[in-house]
Amino acid sequence: MSPGSAAGDSREELDTGSTILVVGASLAGLRAAEALRERGFRGRLVVVDAEPVAPYDRPPLSKEYLAGTWGRERIALLEPQRVDALGLDLRLGWAAKALDLSRRSVLFEHGAELGFDRLVVATGASPRVWRDPVPDGVLTLRTLADADTLRRLLRPPGRRLVVVGGGFLGLEVAATACRLGAEATVVEPLPSLLGRVLPPAVGAAVRELHERHGVRVLTGVAVAAFEGGDRLAGVRLERPRAGGSGTAATGDEERRLGADVALVAIGVRPSVSWLESSGLPLADGLVCDAALEAAPGVVAAGDVARFPHPLASAPVRLEHWTNAAEQGRHVAATLLLGDARAEPFSSVPYFWSDQFEVKIQAIGLPEPSDEVVVVDGSLESGRFVALCARGGSLVAAIGFGRPRQLMAFHPLLRRRATISEAVSLLER
Ligand SMILES: Cc1cc2nc3c(=O)[nH]c(=O)nc-3n(C[C@H](O)[C@H](O)[C@H](O)COP(=O)(O)OP(=O)(O)OC[C@H]3O[C@@H](n4cnc5c(N)ncnc54)[C@H](O)[C@@H]3O)c2cc1C
Repeated sequence: MSPGSAAGDSREELDTGSTILVVGASLAGLRAAEALRERGFRGRLVVVDAEPVAPYDRPPLSKEYLAGTWGRERIALLEPQRVDALGLDLRLGWAAKALDLSRRSVLFEHGAELGFDRLVVATGASPRVWRDPVPDGVLTLRTLADADTLRRLLRPPGRRLVVVGGGFLGLEVAATACRLGAEATVVEPLPSLLGRVLPPAVGAAVRELHERHGVRVLTGVAVAAFEGGDRLAGVRLERPRAGGSGTAATGDEERRLGADVALVAIGVRPSVSWLESSGLPLADGLVCDAALEAAPGVVAAGDVARFPHPLASAPVRLEHWTNAAEQGRHVAATLLLGDARAEPFSSVPYFWSDQFEVKIQAIGLPEPSDEVVVVDGSLESGRFVALCARGGSLVAAIGFGRPRQLMAFHPLLRRRATISEAVSLLER
């Protein structure tokens, strides 16, 4: 089979001496490797990752692992015996530096080069960092090493944590830190928590949950700077924006928060710098077609991939665990089936977030401006299913502590039901 040609799945072709290179040995990359073997690929399968440690799962890093209730073994993504069973050539500590598509090879930071016939791009994302240099004690959270540092700095109880950014990651860390006995403050420049992803009514329910557990929540106010010499001493806030809760909570004298630890949780950037000179289409991620192919024989999966989704008007990039796992499996099929038979990836998006005693879950693609209809429970009680509607159509459903009721809306999202149809579902 020639590199980049449409591959069939006859035994001869699956048995050829071709090489598939997977860059990124985390969730999406490993699921791709597993699925390639399950589908009968018997060629050389090389899986590389920049991190020098055995692959691990990220969601527990802000929850059970950070809290200390789960250890390292519980978050392993790949048992050592699976490496042999799958016949993987696993290379850890190998950071891809550049892709040469015409030569079909990847150059690594340490000077080595690997050739391939087909390529899986699964390099995920990395945290946006603060614009200025920061003192010790100001962190981001993406890796196991980050979680270890954060866990150490949150001890003993009584530490003052400031979380910059009221998104899912920051809120999970605030909740876990509270459980560890820290005093947590969340600072969010938008008027509402989760204001970039969910409607304000849902953000208000999250705020209520956090305040009830003692988290101090400041919205409508941004962090201006971190104070301290070598070590963090405090966080200086900007003047509150009109309408933010920070207005009342932060008078002039209060525009400084004492802090021992600060977490900068202001979003991520897709890890595509190694693709910049490759000629592949980049636009806040690697741009793919509906089957997740970016170029002949080159596919992308997980946090790094931007792709057209039937529920979205423009290509999306999702930062959810389930998406990375499902896309990893999907790209294996795309690579082995070839252009003629590859199928679009159209799974209904799903994510969850654990904060205090509540499991927050969402299916579909919610947006902050969606109309919200509560169909089960109530926002005030903190237990509910809220539907999101746009232009009369159901686009998402969000559940707080309502896993079973929420999933009832899955088939309706898949067939793009109207909001009135969805509202009547629980009445039946
Ligand atoms: C703390 C935390 C908590 C989370 N909690 C949830 C949750 O509760 N629910 C949910 O749905 N999602 C959650 N997520 C998101 C979820 O973990 C991600 O969507 C998922 O990890 C994406 O998997 P991925 O394989 O696409 O990318 P990643 O997990 O980012 O893996 C990419 C891999 O590529 C490697 N890499 C990057 N650049 C290079 C390079 N140049 N060369 C070689 N290797 C490279 C990296 O080292 C990394 O191992 C959480 C994420 C974090 C960080």
